[in-house]
Formats: sequence, C-alpha cells, structure tokens
Amino acid sequence: MTILADVQDALRELRHEVCALHEQLTRYQLVVWTAGNVSARVPGHDLLVIKPSGVAYDALTPENMVVCDLDGRVLEGDHAPSSDTEAQAYVYRHMPHVGGVVHTHSTYATAWAARGEPVPCVLTMGADEFGGEIPVGPFAIIGDDSIGRGIVETLQDSRSPAVLMRNHGVFTIGPTARAAVKAAVMCEDVARTVHVSRQLGEPIPVEPQHVDALYERYQNVYGQR
Ligand SMILES: [Zn+2]
Repeated sequence: MTILADVQDALRELRHEVCALHEQLTRYQLVVWTAGNVSARVPGHDLLVIKPSGVAYDALTPENMVVCDLDGRVLEGDHAPSSDTEAQAYVYRHMPHVGGVVHTHSTYATAWAARGEPVPCVLTMGADEFGGEIPVGPFAIIGDDSIGRGIVETLQDSRSPAVLMRNHGVFTIGPTARAAVKAAVMCEDVARTVHVSRQLGEPIPVEPQHVDALYERYQNVYGQR
C-alpha cells in the first residue's frame, strides 16, 4: 500500500502537530524517559501518525514520527512505531469519532490504576472534563489487542475520555490529538488533587445532577465561541 499524494499535505501537518504535542507530556511531567506517546488519526483516511518507539523526547522531530495503517502496519518511517500502536489502532478502528489517543504512566493517575480504583467525581473539574468518575479498565498484557479492547470496552459506555488501565497507566481519547493530550493533563491533575484530599479525610461526592449540569456546560458552552 502506498500513501496517496493528496494525503501528503495532511500528513505533513499532522507530523508537526503530533511531534509538538509530545512537548506537552514532558512540560506537565506526565512521562519519564521514552514512556508515553501521542497519536492522531489522519482525517478521512485509515491512517495514524504516532511517536517512534524508544526515541527520547528531546530527539523527536516531525520527520521521525511514524505513519501506520489502522492495523498498525508501518507505511512511512525509519523507526519502529510506539509499542502501543496496536492498542491505539484498535481504538481508532472501533471508535470512529476518536481523532487522537494519548498514553502516559503519569504518577498519581497510575497510582489509582495500581489499586484498580476509579478516581471518584469529587471536584467540579472532574465533572467538567470527565462527566463522572475516571474509570478503571482491565489488566491487559502488551502484545495482542487486549489493551485496545480494554480501552474501548471501558470508554464506550462512559463520558470519560480517560481510562486507568489496571496496574499500567492512563489512556485518553479525544476528537483531536490535542484534546486527548488535554484529557491526559486533566486526568493527572484530578487524580493528584483527589489523592491529596484523601489524605485529609473522605472527599465529598459531587451530586449526580450537578455532575450532569457541569459536564453539559463545560462541553457545550464554556470557552471562546
Ligand atoms: Zn504503558
């Protein structure tokens, strides 16, 4: 399979965007060493752009981003794609509205994942961004589609764009890669604040009708029009 010429412009832009978004993962201290990654769907095509495997964040360039089809096969790239490519490709295949996927082992969120405990909705920002608790997905080993399946099965019935895969870390989705990065940043922030609150006592849940109203407003009204 070769990539059509008319996709090349879109690909050039996405290579830049996906590369630049990785800087946000380090800026917000969501990743260490080479762990973590961002990918984006190429709109209108069964392709994705993702971080190369095992390349340091400082060494990422638009040119070394890897282009794969939605079965995870490399179409363009001198490097192997992220080891999470299969999981992310599975998400794109099964969730057509998803345009971006992010994976991190950010500390606080992953500490909840290690206990297999969802982050309860006890903050307005939890209601805004996640529409409820941040759910936990199953334990899944890398190497087949079980991580992808776990992400899709957990998120398809949830308003949350983030799932805490048990004993592993965070996967987030969004209509764009940027939105998925934002969800990863917010997930860690909420997980950290709720953790700190827990040290002082039992946080108070936001009532369901308020969760609904906050989510609705933040998703549809908040921000610049
Ligand atoms: Zn991982």
